[in-house]
Amino acid sequence: MTSKTVKSDVLIVGAGVAGCGLAIRLARAGLDTAVIDKDKFPRHKLCGEFVSPECIAELESLGVMESIEAIGGDRIRETVFHSLRGRSVTVPSDYFSNGSQGAIGVSRSGMDHQLIKGASNAGAEIFEEMRASDIELDGSNVKRVIAKDAIGDHIRFESQLFVDATGRSRVLGNLVDRKNEKQRKRQQIGHVAFKAHFRDVVLQKGVCEIYFFEGGYGGLSFVEDGAANHCFLIDAGVVRNNGGDPDLLLKNVIFENRKAKEALISADRTMEWMAVAIPGFGKQRTSGIDNLIAVGDSRAFIDPFTGSGMLMALESGQLLASAVERGGLHHVREIRDLYSSEHSKATRKRLLTCRVMRRLAFSPTLSEAVIASIGSSRTLVERIASLTRPVRSH
Ligand SMILES: Cc1cc2nc3c(=O)[nH]c(=O)nc-3n(C[C@H](O)[C@H](O)[C@H](O)COP(=O)(O)OP(=O)(O)OC[C@H]3O[C@@H](n4cnc5c(N)ncnc54)[C@H](O)[C@@H]3O)c2cc1C
Repeated sequence: MTSKTVKSDVLIVGAGVAGCGLAIRLARAGLDTAVIDKDKFPRHKLCGEFVSPECIAELESLGVMESIEAIGGDRIRETVFHSLRGRSVTVPSDYFSNGSQGAIGVSRSGMDHQLIKGASNAGAEIFEEMRASDIELDGSNVKRVIAKDAIGDHIRFESQLFVDATGRSRVLGNLVDRKNEKQRKRQQIGHVAFKAHFRDVVLQKGVCEIYFFEGGYGGLSFVEDGAANHCFLIDAGVVRNNGGDPDLLLKNVIFENRKAKEALISADRTMEWMAVAIPGFGKQRTSGIDNLIAVGDSRAFIDPFTGSGMLMALESGQLLASAVERGGLHHVREIRDLYSSEHSKATRKRLLTCRVMRRLAFSPTLSEAVIASIGSSRTLVERIASLTRPVRSH
């Protein structure tokens, strides 16, 4: 087993939306930036694959919008929320910033591949199939991250600033907790998410549909090549009662929503189901380490019904890049504190709104009542939609 050392100014662990967005910005600013990811790209990713309209400006500023558009996804004009008993409410994409361009339905496999290429083109050094597996601390700083490559060799990564961009799994934060012997509370698995692509769904192009059902909700929208993404989030108890089988959940639970049944009953699944446990939502714990900063879902996970997780991931990369630019890498603690306060300011209201709305999303009775009461009021729908978003600048 060999062991080599890679040195950089910044090490980003995780080449998802947040990690690559940040890597592009830092590499462009002239910082020696290394990015590692456990996967080989392109790879599928569990996600609703609804790229909200506000992301377009972010992706343009990262220089990857053209290549993402060339993948050929769907331009989504509106999202229709369907209650279990057949009521609906429509949220046009132009209720959001940049909305006249619509949202984009595009696979994460295609989009993340373009982002990682963008990071490489900007000058970041990319290491695929490189899994962060250990961390070495020196007081209140990370000294190095140890990663394992595809053939099992260990590589040491040394940097001034370490970024946890590993998504909800918050890998570096958890490694630090383990080193500090912080007793992690055993997390209950509250929900499970599933995703697959289908052909021959009954759905209009340009429309994303969201279906509420017992214990959860799911979305359907087109991506590229005539395929549609069906992704759903459901109570872990309901999953157990159906033997953990997503096809059974579709038949027994999701098809209780008539619109979901119409759309999917004759469709063909074109890939294996992907599944992931979701222990919780909202802001994640911080590590307390001076030179370790979390971006994207590792920092905060916003509820999927908002279709804005990728937006928040891109925003967090932008906030951290600007804190690095202002603070300079020699002042990592200042960067961490500046980023932390800017991130809280930018996301607090959204995360709070989602905390309140979450109960509605998982209860068919409550979602029914809300859809019935707001369905015909454009002002109310627009107001509620905007509460899940950054403050709009005109
Ligand atoms: C059911 C569901 C539906 C969703 N639908 C939408 C939607 O329609 N629109 C939307 O905007 N958002 C949606 N989201 C949220 C969105 O997927 C996330 O907010 C977004 O992917 C966060 O990006 P990220 O870069 O922080 O993390 P991720 O995209 O999760 O990327 C993390 C990266 O870290 C890598 N990694 C993990 N562990 C290691 C390790 N040990 N070593 C090295 N690399 C590692 C992974 O391979 C991965 O590439 C949804 C989420 C769920 C659960």
